Amino acid sequence: MATDYDAPRKNEEEQSEESIEELKARRHDKNSGKVDEDEAEAAESFELPGADLSHEELAVEVKPKQEDEFTCMSCFLVHHRSQLADEKKMICFDCA
Ligand SMILES: [Zn+2]
Repeated sequence: MATDYDAPRKNEEEQSEESIEELKARRHDKNSGKVDEDEAEAAESFELPGADLSHEELAVEVKPKQEDEFTCMSCFLVHHRSQLADEKKMICFDCA
């Protein structure tokens, strides 16, 4: 029967469309305005000493953060203060 053949195909298409829609919805959430605050808060806790998770993230950087360095709120890399493009947003020149 032709309908037998078509039915499973349609389901597969619907499933993949759904996951794409889900991804799109998530991206919209991330781009909404109030994420800025969340990210800033996350970054603050991110810098707290003794946080095991942040230690893993910072393993990319060879040396620990120094007094004259800052963590970019956009790329989360540690830069020298001379690379600080926006002091309020804590963003490096690369990301500005
Ligand atoms: Zn940056």
